[in-house]
Amino acid sequence: MIHSIVQMGYLISGIGFILGLKMMSSPQKAVRGNFIAASGMILAVVLTIIYCLYVQPVIPYVSLLTVAVAIALGTIVGYLISYKVQMTAMPQMVSLFNAMGGGSAMLIGWMELQHGVQLAGTWIILSAGAMIGAVSFSGSGIAYLKLSGKKVEAANYGVRTLGFFLPLLLAGGMLIGHSWFSSQAIAITVLIGIALVYGVIFVLPIGGADMPVVISLLNSFTGMAAGLAGIAYQNKVMIIGGILVGAAGLLLTLLMCKAMNRSIMNVLLGAFKKENKKSKGDVGNLGVIQETDASEVALNLAYAGKVAIIPGYGLAVAQAQHACHQLEKMLEEHGVETIYVIHPVAGRMPGHMNVLLAEADVSYEKLIEMDEVNDQMDAFDVVIVIGANDVVNPAAEQNSSSKIYGMPIIRAHRAKSVVVIKRSMNAGYAGIENELFHLPNCKMLFADAKKGLNDIATAMKKF
Ligand code: NDP
Repeated sequence: MIHSIVQMGYLISGIGFILGLKMMSSPQKAVRGNFIAASGMILAVVLTIIYCLYVQPVIPYVSLLTVAVAIALGTIVGYLISYKVQMTAMPQMVSLFNAMGGGSAMLIGWMELQHGVQLAGTWIILSAGAMIGAVSFSGSGIAYLKLSGKKVEAANYGVRTLGFFLPLLLAGGMLIGHSWFSSQAIAITVLIGIALVYGVIFVLPIGGADMPVVISLLNSFTGMAAGLAGIAYQNKVMIIGGILVGAAGLLLTLLMCKAMNRSIMNVLLGAFKKENKKSKGDVGNLGVIQETDASEVALNLAYAGKVAIIPGYGLAVAQAQHACHQLEKMLEEHGVETIYVIHPVAGRMPGHMNVLLAEADVSYEKLIEMDEVNDQMDAFDVVIVIGANDVVNPAAEQNSSSKIYGMPIIRAHRAKSVVVIKRSMNAGYAGIENELFHLPNCKMLFADAKKGLNDIATAMKKF
């Protein structure tokens, strides 16, 4: 009886995950979707505890206490971190959570194989889950450090060769490890060790602009590892959750690859673009920088017919989304047609700009994907680039030695005039010069994004 209730409950949890995920694809329903998926997860945890207590009492009392303490600790730590984290630090947090998921899958596989398993199929499932989890664990740890701005880099060829060789070694170990029955525990420990090293090697050489791709791929790895552990435990809700995370992460990886102009094979083989030292500052003869002020920008905007706003990471840092929406409303009141052009990797996580602007009540119809307008950028009288840099860098299209060459960009440089609001001439995430800032149709408003926008709005009141 309890067995059937638990299985039924798992089904409801699974439906909650699917429904939640579906709703998260719409900004209006995302919060409710998140709540539904989280409720599904809580239900699954409660059901699993009930199952272990009444149906398959394999967990002795002391272990149950350990589980309760772990859940309580996890809840408190998770709550505190989520409460404090800035929107701009979300990718680091996602990496950290991902490392936890991968680490759990790794430990499950390792523990289960300590006493050896009879069936080759069970060995393959458990060892694959443990190894994928280990890659995800150490890889996400390195991604966390990189995204937190720590200098962890390696582009030397020895590391790269190992990066090709280790996956083969792991696959071999997975296929033949079962036959070492008496020493499966040692085999899985060695394989996990190699997988941990591979995770580091996989992420270490990845340069700035490729990070979004690797984050979603690692996310997908964690999902796969959890799904495999679910198969080993015959736990349906783990299988459903794992498949959903694995598939969603992989789809996102493919979308990000498209957005960054990377092939999935390059990503899988760890063959990310190496930093091209020559590209630093190598943007030909740069023109002089033209500085502007808020009054001049306001004047140009007031007499413009069509304006495009391009938000970037700096807008998020400055929390300037409300000021931006305010200016957009003023422009509309002046009869200026205004839209936002959104780059898929603007900011520091997929969908970052959509989430920020939604928070400021910017209408969804005004958010236009860059592909929809990129060929008509010359129709805009003024383009305002707010705290964006890499996503509007023409080097991605024009300078084959640039490390972001091939990454799709918003062609702001083609507009009749461009205003860039940023604090200095500092580079963006990829660490390279931006020729746009030196073009004759571009002017720089050096200011914090929020202050700059507020100053423009104040100046616009005169018109
Ligand atoms: P960039 O990181 O290229 O540039 C941001 C610019 O904002 C900087 O040049 C900085 O210049 C400026 N800035 C910072 N703070 C402020 C502020 N308070 N006010 C005004 N300006 C500010 O951002 P983009 O959005 O153009 O590009 C995103 C980059 O991040 C891409 O390279 C992408 O690959 C990468 N990335 C994206 C992820 C994603 O999933 N979306 C994940 C990880 C990386 P200054 O200091 O002079 O003000």
